[in-house]
Amino acid sequence: MSKVLVFVEHGAGTPARGAAELLAAAAQLGEPAAVVVSETDAGPLAVELGALGAGTVYVAVVPGADSLLVTPRVAALAAAVAAAGDVAAVLVGTSVESREAAARLAIRIGGAYLSDAVGVGHGVGAGHGVSAGHGAGGEGITVTQQAFGGAYTVVSAAGRGIPIVSLRPHSVEGAAPAAAGTVVAIDVAGDTAPTTTITARHEQSGASDRPDLQAAEVVVSGGRGLGSQEKFALVEQLADALGAAVGASRAAVDAGYVPQSYQVGQTGVTVSPNLYIAVGISGAIQHKAGMQTAKTIVAINKDADAPIFEVADFGVVGDLFTVVPQLIEAVKARKG
Ligand SMILES: Cc1cc2nc3c(=O)[nH]c(=O)nc-3n(C[C@H](O)[C@H](O)[C@H](O)COP(=O)(O)OP(=O)(O)OC[C@H]3O[C@@H](n4cnc5c(N)ncnc54)[C@H](O)[C@@H]3O)c2cc1C
Repeated sequence: MSKVLVFVEHGAGTPARGAAELLAAAAQLGEPAAVVVSETDAGPLAVELGALGAGTVYVAVVPGADSLLVTPRVAALAAAVAAAGDVAAVLVGTSVESREAAARLAIRIGGAYLSDAVGVGHGVGAGHGVSAGHGAGGEGITVTQQAFGGAYTVVSAAGRGIPIVSLRPHSVEGAAPAAAGTVVAIDVAGDTAPTTTITARHEQSGASDRPDLQAAEVVVSGGRGLGSQEKFALVEQLADALGAAVGASRAAVDAGYVPQSYQVGQTGVTVSPNLYIAVGISGAIQHKAGMQTAKTIVAINKDADAPIFEVADFGVVGDLFTVVPQLIEAVKARKG
């Protein structure tokens, strides 16, 4: 069976949250294998990745890797593709670094970069009237993507070369069966591509202990309906009661309730959590583009005709200042 390589980001040897899902997606397409760049021997990390389904773990040991921008990751991916030989696809997450590495890898190996997929399959294109076609790469692997602000769902295949896919979090269910996690060392020392060194890191002001917006299981977003920065605290209280990330509409960002990094939508971040709660958000197409693939959408809005209710699974028509405090109390009561 062809290998499907997964680029695994990690912090001090702990795989990023999305690694398990990427390996599960890889298992649907072929034999999952992980690719990691590490400053030191990645033995314990490889054991963990084996438990998550990686049969092989390609490890590039790069001194100072944590202080280098993307190029060592590209070098490691290219070397792993060469070492693996028979590669059906490469999967990465949606962090800036992973997506940049993926696009650069596509240029290096003559592959095809398929960005922001919300599903992957083997020949699923046939069922959608799309097939990989003559000369296509990726052994008939197809990906599902949202296009034009979510107005269309398209099924795409690589026209040539290996498909390199960035997969949105929460797109794939289940887990890959545990595998050996056999370490294969890859040498990228000969790769002389210029790189950029990180000389200082500054914590973003307002950084919190809340989950990362793009990877969170639950997102609570607030809109202009909150009315002020002070009142936006209600959204944060609900998020904290649920252990959720906080998002916002552009109108809320433009009004200064929260920083731009909170913005969900066409010109903000795209989220695909299991639960998305929209509070005082009308549901403009540009907002929906960033959240409508959430598994369950709950909308709280006093206007029964607000477009957000078109995509909501559950809707509460009411004043958010009455509804949300009750919801917070109910969540706290349930948690005991
Ligand atoms: C090129 C372009 C890109 C854009 N990109 C984005 C983007 O990335 N993300 C984004 O979000 N928008 C984006 N927009 C803006 C978008 O078109 C909308 O203007 C914006 O999403 C509206 O935000 P909102 O829903 O918070 O505000 P509004 O549309 O003003 O809606 C506020 C809602 O709150 C409700 N409300 C008010 N008071 C209460 C109350 N007390 N209780 C309950 N409900 C209440 C109202 O009924 C209303 O539905 C973009 C626009 C353009 C042109």
